[in-house]
Amino acid sequence: MAGEYITQIADRELAPESLMMGYGYRPEWSEGALKCPIFHTSTFTFASAAEGKRFFEIAYGLDEPAEGETPGLIYSRLNNPDLEILEKRLTLWDGAEASLVFASGMAAITTTLLTFLNPGSVLVYTAPLYGGTDHFVHHVLSRFNVATVAWRHGMTPDEIASEIGERTLGAVVVETPANPTNDLFSIAAASELAGRYRSDTNPVPVMVDNTFLGPMWQHPLKHGADIVLYSATKYIGGHSDLIAGASLGSRELMAAVAEMRTILGTMASPHTGWLMMRSLETLSLRMTKQTENARKIAAFLVDHPKVAKVSYLGLLTPEDDGYAIYRDQCEGPGAMISLWIEGGEAEAFRFLDSLQLVHLAVSLGSTESLVEHPASMTHAGVDPEDKIRLDITDSLVRLSVGVEHPDDIITDLANALEKV
Ligand SMILES: *Cc1c(COP(=O)(O)O)cnc(C)c1O
Repeated sequence: MAGEYITQIADRELAPESLMMGYGYRPEWSEGALKCPIFHTSTFTFASAAEGKRFFEIAYGLDEPAEGETPGLIYSRLNNPDLEILEKRLTLWDGAEASLVFASGMAAITTTLLTFLNPGSVLVYTAPLYGGTDHFVHHVLSRFNVATVAWRHGMTPDEIASEIGERTLGAVVVETPANPTNDLFSIAAASELAGRYRSDTNPVPVMVDNTFLGPMWQHPLKHGADIVLYSATKYIGGHSDLIAGASLGSRELMAAVAEMRTILGTMASPHTGWLMMRSLETLSLRMTKQTENARKIAAFLVDHPKVAKVSYLGLLTPEDDGYAIYRDQCEGPGAMISLWIEGGEAEAFRFLDSLQLVHLAVSLGSTESLVEHPASMTHAGVDPEDKIRLDITDSLVRLSVGVEHPDDIITDLANALEKV
């Protein structure tokens, strides 16, 4: 969709916070409606047969768009105003040229990986990975003869390169901070590794799953990543009422991903796109408040006698392993706290069952605080030896801090810890 929107006043370039309410949309397109309506339509009429032909030429890459020419609306598997406007807004936070939204985080991750991997190529991935991504990498890609190399905490690019050997590297997937332990990996190191294998015919994109800190507290494209991936179900959606995903990067890489999305049909619905636009208006407010709350809660937990250990980025000090990566790569600690209760599963379960305000549910990044037990829930399928190596023990609880009053959350946590 064409159109100009205010992005600057005098010398000042407006910040994403100021642009989320209107960028990419013009009221005159919709009877003056201030808010972008939901375009609940599967298909779009062409003004003429020649126009339809031209729209398809551009959409299918049969011809390059002319200067200033934008893709026309064809069919909602290819494009829809709610998705196009949302995609424009999403690019602003990460400084990306283009973005695409999907029906889920998994749809974004799998569609993007399938765009760049070929049989015989190798995928490097950081361990641990989100359970769904881990399953796709090990049980689906393997059927298409894509080999994998795990990048474990502390491994250097040279060590990973020696495991790749003479094979072709297809892509690098980095999940940082990692779910559920908050382990950090260097995006710059991933970019250096990918650069060794890159050629004119093989882009070797570095893809960062930025679900835990983004789009507020980590901007992977600034650190050498080529693609940013999101489960938009989490902070971007932020209200536990939708499932969605996103992929962001250069125009060229996103054109390739868009082609795959069109063929697989993994795009988001217009209604989901509309809900996400609503959510983006308060993204900065929510994430700022959640992070403020999390700092207070981590400070409370770290001194509590019933809590053996707390992993929270805001507690890192220069003596800690991940501190240098945190300082170079992250702009805030976010609101995900991992805590290990004194004892084992029985103690952790007593704690979880005693909470009254904080909900016992998987997912994260929402306005309400959520807790879950990774060892028996989100990470139940992880290999038992890997669980020990990664510290995903029976006493681990993952807490996603919401926007409630921090003293209420602390009272609930304190009360439940009494029952352990
Ligand atoms: C939830 C999550 C996903 C999967 O996203 P869905 O929207 O549930 O498909 C991927 N990566 C991370 C880090 C997640 O937390």
